[in-house]
Amino acid sequence: MDSAEIRSRFLRFFADRGHTPVPSASLLLDDPTLLFVNAGMVPFKPYFLGEAPAPYDRATSVQKCVRTLDIDEVGKTTRHASFFQMAGNFSFGDYFKEGAIPFAWELLTSSEADGGYGFPEDRLWATVYDDDDEALDIWHRVVGVPLERIQRRDAKDNYWSMGVPGPGGPCSEIYYDRGPEHGKEGGPVADEDRYLEVWNLVFMQDELSAVRSKTDFDVRQPLPAKNIDTGMGLERMAALLQGVDNIYEIDTTKMILDRAVALSGARYGAGSRDDDVRLRVVADHARTVAFLMQDGVLPGNEGRGYVLRRILRRVVRNMRLLGSNDPVMGELISASVDAMGPQYPELVDDLGRLVSIAENEEAVFAETLRTGTTLFDTAVADLQRKGGTTLAGDAAFALHDTFGFPIDLTLEMAAEKGIEVDQDGFRRLMTEQRDRAKADAKARKAGLTPLTVYKDVMDAAGITAFTGYDEVVSEATLR
Ligand code: ATP
Ligand code: MG
Ligand code: MG
Ligand code: MG
Repeated sequence: MDSAEIRSRFLRFFADRGHTPVPSASLLLDDPTLLFVNAGMVPFKPYFLGEAPAPYDRATSVQKCVRTLDIDEVGKTTRHASFFQMAGNFSFGDYFKEGAIPFAWELLTSSEADGGYGFPEDRLWATVYDDDDEALDIWHRVVGVPLERIQRRDAKDNYWSMGVPGPGGPCSEIYYDRGPEHGKEGGPVADEDRYLEVWNLVFMQDELSAVRSKTDFDVRQPLPAKNIDTGMGLERMAALLQGVDNIYEIDTTKMILDRAVALSGARYGAGSRDDDVRLRVVADHARTVAFLMQDGVLPGNEGRGYVLRRILRRVVRNMRLLGSNDPVMGELISASVDAMGPQYPELVDDLGRLVSIAENEEAVFAETLRTGTTLFDTAVADLQRKGGTTLAGDAAFALHDTFGFPIDLTLEMAAEKGIEVDQDGFRRLMTEQRDRAKADAKARKAGLTPLTVYKDVMDAAGITAFTGYDEVVSEATLR
């Protein structure tokens, strides 16, 4: 079943059951807590909070999402993309658990001929929040899932919030058992690679006043109504329904991956894990770049533009490592548009502009790489002559500050040479610079834009490459 069909089946199923189909919102919604839309519920937040009356009791959508938090996982796990599509059904004070659970079950298990996805029932597992006996009961008694395939999990996995004050609630997740060749038995609690999470049903009932971590939050009051918010990962469903190993090999993403193979001459699945990860990163990130630009982000040094720049540069850098020395961005953006255009015609209309922005940014980065690499090589040669094995923090800082070298790039290049980087020293210098900037801003009473501050903090903390650029500002510490 191709991605387009998975998508239309979902919308049709819920439209037939009284849900108003709502088109995907832009990735850039005006929400001060978010860099990018990262879940299907985001556009509906005011309805859940009771800030605006919902124009419908039930809705369904397939929402574009970007989760920069997952960037470090991309290509390494089988299931994390930086851009993905979340299919969802929503109830605004209409049905609750007793509606949401049977709907999801019916769509997953009814036959393809009946408009469903045709999953065998005995491959599906469900989780519920600790003491949510009500949900457990519906899974068991109403739907008929045997108790041994229902697991209880604590707030870390089964209480959903946006990571910031706002709506939240216990959730129930649905997993597909990919079989013993994918890992150990014991259900999702034991192995989230073998048991692939495909769908999360959130019983949105609380308004949170503070969220300190996934397990530490305060409920201010119940929401005005009990709501349903669900999210089914389209790419994960496609991997299962297309019988491929991971979400980078599904119909759409594979087209981009194949183009990266053709451009670089590297081979996929030929025994080099490093190359495989890089090709998957390229396929994923190129698509994310296309969607971000289409929604209006331009490469820059702050906020969203900075995230785009970093993602794009990661594509270029990985392609270089895969063996391609010529410009690649134009081709990879074209491939992304070829892959996603049938479902997002606005990408096709915008192709020329997207290609030209991406090519320009690649040219700028090529220059950065050239000069920065020279400086890096000199510093490393110097270090090795003296018998050192750790690159000083100020060298990493200079690369960052003067040449725009992201720290992850410096770390990666250092690792290739078998040397370490004084990350504490680097962080200290970043912090000092940030404090200076803050003091300046205060003095000028102008105030830095919060995202600039955020970027610096995240650079300083961003040792594991990209972990930092989060979509939810205060969520960085949560996941
Ligand atoms: P995981 O535990 O695998 O990281 P999650 O619990 O963070 O997933 P949710 O926030 O519950 O994910 O999102 C709802 C659904 O969206 C998930 O069940 C999954 O199918 C899909 N999804 C979430 N994150 C990603 C991602 N990075 N790439 C692709 N699909 C995703
Ligand atoms: Mg996750
Ligand atoms: Mg999960
Ligand atoms: Mg989940």
